[in-house]
Amino acid sequence: MAELLTIDEALRRIKEHAQLLAVETVAVSDAAGRVLREPALSRVDLPPFASSAMDGFAVRADETPGELSVAFRVAAGSSEAQSLPVGVAAGIATGAAVPEGADAVVPVERTADHGHRVEIPEPAASGQHVRPRGGDVRVGDVVAESGTRLGAAQIGALSAVGVAEVRCSVRPRVAVLATGSELQPAGELLAHGQIYESNRAMIAAALRTVGADVELLPVVDDDEPAHRVALEQGLAADVLVTSGGVSMGPHDLVRRVAAGLGVEEVFWGVAVKPGKPLSFGVRGATMIFGLPGNPVSALVGALVFVRPALLARQGATIVDPQYEYGRVVSTLRRNPQRDEFVRARRVVRDDGVMLDPVSGQDSHMIVRAAAASALIHVPRGDGELTAATPARYLRLE
Ligand code: AMP
Ligand code: MG
Repeated sequence: MAELLTIDEALRRIKEHAQLLAVETVAVSDAAGRVLREPALSRVDLPPFASSAMDGFAVRADETPGELSVAFRVAAGSSEAQSLPVGVAAGIATGAAVPEGADAVVPVERTADHGHRVEIPEPAASGQHVRPRGGDVRVGDVVAESGTRLGAAQIGALSAVGVAEVRCSVRPRVAVLATGSELQPAGELLAHGQIYESNRAMIAAALRTVGADVELLPVVDDDEPAHRVALEQGLAADVLVTSGGVSMGPHDLVRRVAAGLGVEEVFWGVAVKPGKPLSFGVRGATMIFGLPGNPVSALVGALVFVRPALLARQGATIVDPQYEYGRVVSTLRRNPQRDEFVRARRVVRDDGVMLDPVSGQDSHMIVRAAAASALIHVPRGDGELTAATPARYLRLE
């Protein structure tokens, strides 16, 4: 491993090699988690008409306070366009169209409703409880920009402005394979020297949250022909993620076999703990990540490096890991050579987020990591990370 890249430099090179995926039309109702590739525009003014924000009476503000006759009542969805004669109030429901001529709504609890007449004891202000036409958005305005990852609020907004379909990136096809002759599937008995294979399902879970369409490939023994077959199969995907076999041991075959299949290595080795021997390469548009086999290393690699790659390929505006800030409950020693990701419990308190490292920080200790809800980023350097300064962390969910 010649020179270890910083996390930022590794991310820069990954993004530089991320080619945009194709675009497809998706029903808005199925588009949660997808990345928009064209701006989505409003089909209407929203609200499409001046509407009432309350159940009450539509009035002319300058005719209040006073007693008005009630000429008619308007329900939500009532399609008859009405106008309000002088000296008159109209009963109105939330969401109903405010009659032409009315400029205020008085909530029912601020009136005395006598059926054909209504008493309004207090003056109404012009505009009160009226939602103006187009107050949320105007027809033709951008509702969501290209590059937006659609969440619940955006899906609601697009539906509200009458958009039924959007142009999104296709989902990245991701192949995940695990290497290691010691690996057994759950359900089998373990012979001496064997462990259960856990990285494929974990990596798949980490990547599905950013839209990946994941295929799990079979576990590969530590021999070259088996690697060749599996890697070639995986290279048909948009992104191939392997686990294990990227260190310096005699059985670490992934990089060599990948090179033989035409993969150009972009880098090998990042100054991060856990996860140092991560390799990244490309063959055509396909990206290949060789994650180390230790489960916590594979998890960190998937979260910090593979997720951004998938977002970049989908054209997302926000691609990089999104750090938040909290305070460590106990001092953490910094590592002079490598940035570290320390697994911690995140405790939200009135005065901020506290980060409490879990016991057992070795990179094979995935069960200890499972108790954590945050990865504290401890930058490399001398000295300590203390509670005195805010610490960056990534959420683990
Ligand atoms: P490697 O990176 O292949 O040298 O593997 C490092 C460590 O991670 C070894 O202890 C492996 O047994 C373990 N390991 C590798 N792959 C997996 C996997 N898919 N699931 C669980 N543990 C693994
Ligand atoms: Mg191995």
